[in-house]
Amino acid sequence: MTDKTIHYPLKLEGPDVPMVRFMNVSKRYGDLVVLDRLDLDVAAGEMVTIIGPSGSGKTTVLRMIMTLEKIDEGVIYIDGEPLTHMEKNGKLVRANQAHMRKMRSKIGMCFQHFNLFPHMTALENCMEGPVQVLGISKDEARERAMELLEMVGMAEKSDQHPSRLSGGQQQRVAIARALAMRPKVMLFDEVTSALDPEVINEVTTVIRNLVDQHSLTMLMVTHQIGFAREISDRICFFFGGRIEEQGPPTDLLDEPQEDRTQQFLSAVF
Ligand code: ADP
Repeated sequence: MTDKTIHYPLKLEGPDVPMVRFMNVSKRYGDLVVLDRLDLDVAAGEMVTIIGPSGSGKTTVLRMIMTLEKIDEGVIYIDGEPLTHMEKNGKLVRANQAHMRKMRSKIGMCFQHFNLFPHMTALENCMEGPVQVLGISKDEARERAMELLEMVGMAEKSDQHPSRLSGGQQQRVAIARALAMRPKVMLFDEVTSALDPEVINEVTTVIRNLVDQHSLTMLMVTHQIGFAREISDRICFFFGGRIEEQGPPTDLLDEPQEDRTQQFLSAVF
């Protein structure tokens, strides 16, 4: 299950525990190595963006955190606890369903296709999870959902169904819906890719606001380098399932050190 020469702690402790840690994580599909002994930390309150060529493993990172993919080697820690492993007799073993459920509740996701419930209003979309999964009363869930819709600038449309909203508005509701579950980490997968250029700004502004005012921990995959530059604390350039180079946006985008980063950036700009 895990590489025996590496010591994987049962949990991460101390003042500087990252919110997300990939420790020596590998993922293969047959002979194809998609993540290659990946080490990646995201600190609490940090906004990290992953960029890189198609097929470099970016989306797989998010899918691993969402526990949609089995880990072949290594351990992922969320908030100091192993995501898909648990402690048994002083060792890490594969986690049971209860542990996985607990860990999944720490993670919020937003995708390119927002997948709002079409038969529910914006407000009901944001209340559904808290009421059904978290067991919060309807009154409390409604109050919290309205606060979140306010935060993403959608309070006035709270009684509208998704079909009556623009793509940018639906994406903002989807962000509010994810936040309603009080995640510790938010994942964004190409959230602006399906949007018309003129509405991308609304979504960027909302995410920026989350970064600036709510210091959420966020991990994002995007092809939009300008968007990444604007909102990231750090950008990781992926190549072949590993981090080829990483740093603050200005360093990585304006003065890339590695040849592959330079080639990638000159092709996309
Ligand atoms: P990126 O997001 O950087 O474009 P992905 O993480 O989506 O890359 O995929 C990395 C590689 O893994 C790609 O070559 C892709 O074809 C392959 N891959 C992804 N999912 C599967 C799967 N379920 N079965 C086989 N190959 C897959």
